[in-house]
Amino acid sequence: MSEEKTYFEFSERSEEEQQSLLTHTWCDNCQQADLGMIEPQEYEQFGLRFVEGTCKVCAEPVFTELSDDEF
Ligand SMILES: [Zn+2]
Repeated sequence: MSEEKTYFEFSERSEEEQQSLLTHTWCDNCQQADLGMIEPQEYEQFGLRFVEGTCKVCAEPVFTELSDDEF
């Protein structure tokens, strides 16, 4: 498994999926769920798929790990 990040085109997901992923977030900094993220980037690292973005509230990075049924 590689530490290299392999990027994917988040914008190629359906509108529905994008909305869902952008709204169902967990922010470590705010300690709150579903605050939303902006500027999403999707990538795979260590065999796991993530969407990384910026918390809408505090502007800290937020990560969502995607489960198998999401990609
Ligand atoms: Zn936050």
